[in-house]
Amino acid sequence: MTGTNGTNTTNTTSANDDLRARFGAAFMPNYGVPPLALARGEGSRVWDVDGNVYLDLISGIAVSSLGHGHPALVEAVSAQVARLAHTSNLFLHEPEVLLAEKLLELLGADARVFLANSGTEANEAALKIAIKYGKTHGRSYFVAAENGFHGRSMGALALTGKAAIRDPFGPYALDVRFVPYGDAAALEAAVTDECAAVFLEPAQGEAGVVPPPEGYFAAARRICDATGALFVADEIQSAVGRTGAWFAFRHELGEAAPDVLTLAKGLGGGLPIGACVAFGPHGDVFAKGDHGSTFGGNPVSAAAALAVIGTIEKEGLLDQVTAVGERLAAGIAAVGHPLLAAGDAGVRGRGLWRALVLTADRSAAVEAAARSAGFLVNALQPAAVRLAPPLILTPDQAGSFVDALPAILDAAAEKEN
Ligand SMILES: *Cc1c(COP(=O)(O)O)cnc(C)c1O
Repeated sequence: MTGTNGTNTTNTTSANDDLRARFGAAFMPNYGVPPLALARGEGSRVWDVDGNVYLDLISGIAVSSLGHGHPALVEAVSAQVARLAHTSNLFLHEPEVLLAEKLLELLGADARVFLANSGTEANEAALKIAIKYGKTHGRSYFVAAENGFHGRSMGALALTGKAAIRDPFGPYALDVRFVPYGDAAALEAAVTDECAAVFLEPAQGEAGVVPPPEGYFAAARRICDATGALFVADEIQSAVGRTGAWFAFRHELGEAAPDVLTLAKGLGGGLPIGACVAFGPHGDVFAKGDHGSTFGGNPVSAAAALAVIGTIEKEGLLDQVTAVGERLAAGIAAVGHPLLAAGDAGVRGRGLWRALVLTADRSAAVEAAARSAGFLVNALQPAAVRLAPPLILTPDQAGSFVDALPAILDAAAEKEN
């Protein structure tokens, strides 16, 4: 047990060890055994089952946008689960209508919404729209980016450009052609009038929070306009304030928009929800009976998403994310350490969606050293450490990580990875 962000001690007969052993015995090995069992959270801090406290700089992979136990989320979810937890799509309910209307208001566009339970399902909906669009317009293939991530179902996985997670489960029924991310000329060469849709992230999240070169997303919009391919923006990780804007495509496209947009992670603030938004005529591609979900857009998750969006508005979190994100990045860039790329190259991303860029494949050691120092971060790639804290992170909390970073990097440099 320690105070805030002190050095956490490892107990030999800890509750963590016990739960980890039981997890390892009861679950399939697909996640390995995570390093900690978390018990509770408050604001941007979480406690493990042994009582150690951590500043949460990953928020369950960019999900817990309001941090933990935010009163607005607790109130919305508690009230809704007590009133009505589920209707299925045989009946409608007010929270889902309010949520869809709110998303359309934020987008300021003529569009229609489908609600799902997860990012993968949001992308499956987008893919089915693209397949149907392709069939009615003689378009038979798809384009996606190398190293892109779109989910683990057989459709979303077919679009995922990472060989290690894609190849073991192929071949796939879809013709998906992969292009290097950020290369507009390669995209232009790959997209013809026989291409049904292009799937792209506004910055590649799982690949290491890798932003494209300036103008890439706008070039993708132009290429899709010129050929008639649908432009699908996968904003499952990047939207709902994560970059300091409601939608990251706003940084890239200005007033233009993709044809289809997918959302999930931060939208529900910890409750499972995904959304697929299709603009203009594409909102009418699905006919009655074409798609569905028993749980999708359930009242509790919809109420959670409304609370997340309402709180971001009420607390001015978009501006706060921009300001705290810039302070965090500037602080990291000023650290100066042999294990961190020098200066501005040591950190990439936007808002509170960042990666530390290491000079060696030591991210696992950095993650472990940060944990020992009381900070949860994510070893995303061998040389990239992801930071995706709650949107409520304060400047002081960001500063506390920057202050601790030199010692964390020292410890990581000494340790076996
Ligand atoms: C996380 C993620 C997904 C998959 O979402 P799940 O909710 O895990 O199904 C898809 N695309 C991107 C860009 C993601 O970051």
